Amino acid sequence: DPQQVRLSAEILRTLEQAGHTACWVGGCVRDELIGRPVNDMDIATSARPEEVADLFARTVPTGIEHGTMTVVMEKIPFEVTTFRTETEYKDFRRPEEVTFVRSLDEDLKRRDFTMNAIARLLDGTFVDPYDGRADLEQGIIRCVGQARERFREDALRMLRGVRFASVFGFDMEPKTWEALLELRDNMTHIAAERIRAELEKMFSGPRPADGIRLLARSGLLEQAKIRLTPESLEAVKHEALAALPEKPEELRWAALLEDLGTSGEEAEHVLKSWTFSGNFAKSVSALLRINEHIKEAEQKGQQHAKLIFVRCILDFGRTSVGNWLIYRSTVDKGGVSLERETFWLKEIPVESVRELALGGHDIVAHLDRKPGPWLGVRIRQLLEKVALGQLVNEREALLAEIVRIEAETGKEA
Ligand code: ATP
Ligand code: MG
Repeated sequence: DPQQVRLSAEILRTLEQAGHTACWVGGCVRDELIGRPVNDMDIATSARPEEVADLFARTVPTGIEHGTMTVVMEKIPFEVTTFRTETEYKDFRRPEEVTFVRSLDEDLKRRDFTMNAIARLLDGTFVDPYDGRADLEQGIIRCVGQARERFREDALRMLRGVRFASVFGFDMEPKTWEALLELRDNMTHIAAERIRAELEKMFSGPRPADGIRLLARSGLLEQAKIRLTPESLEAVKHEALAALPEKPEELRWAALLEDLGTSGEEAEHVLKSWTFSGNFAKSVSALLRINEHIKEAEQKGQQHAKLIFVRCILDFGRTSVGNWLIYRSTVDKGGVSLERETFWLKEIPVESVRELALGGHDIVAHLDRKPGPWLGVRIRQLLEKVALGQLVNEREALLAEIVRIEAETGKEA
């Protein structure tokens, strides 16, 4: 985004003119070098947070304890972080406290991988003491300094390494890989939330299946809070996973969970325990439940296929059923024709009771009967008939149908 480049350059200029060192660093420099779209333009500087605040009109202290000051320019926020070292690592996690330093080299030293330890100055020169550009060119993920030390300091780095390998299609440098295998059990100290965030990035990249393979080989999550053992990952169908589109995100997670043997009912709980939002967990669970209902119906013979499908739309909504169509056609490619289902989804006249041309009170008044559990049953019957196209969604027609059903059940009783 040229506006972001221009504004972040302006921030660097202001800092330099005040006598500080300032640069772009980390993910944005790396992504630009390999031609990926850049999300945030991270800026690092020798200026202390208070000094940054003094130089700009609008600043927000978003992470003072880590030295991060957010500078807002033309309504766009930029994170400006003071050069720092992280000395005291506790419990194999990044420290709560940091020490500010004035030297860029010191700051680059604490970063995880060589490709993430490249800085770019305003005049276009690179500061690249660990030869990150050479590793980027060769597609190698290599720790800054001693891999064993770096992973011992912060275990999350190991998972970041696997994620980068998957997203970029890179290889792990042998010493880095060796250290990872040696220290993988330290992942137990890492919060589920941070693991989830890495897995999400891996899954939204172009090679989720490679990521799963590498994860299985690494044994990294064998003991972790989000537990994915090599044995369980063996069941994952790589081709299907690779064929699923990036979006909606539900698809790949549903595929993973299905292959791990998780039912639709269990999926919601599992994803919540992995710190996903309730909505996301529900939505993946809905997709898997729809899959189960329809597969079960298929196994029993096709007579009620349309009814089952329509019920899925009424119970889980059009969006989830639409997601399922993408899911099923990718996961079982060639196995099933979903033309009928696609047509049914498109043609369905109602999705919920709110769309019915009459409400419960209309029925109560018309039959002159006290409301009770029977009412919900009747409304659902009407809804299904309308959804199946067997009944027009008009007040008079719906009331007539209710009278007919009542007479019929009266006879039966
Ligand atoms: P992306 O934003 O694409 O996920 P990134 O490398 O930018 O990847 P961020 O979490 O945004 O990741 O971190 C920015 C930079 O901070 C990294 O490029 C790296 O230099 C450094 N960094 C982040 N996490 C760690 C860590 N756990 N240990 C050491 N350095 C880290
Ligand atoms: Mg980043």
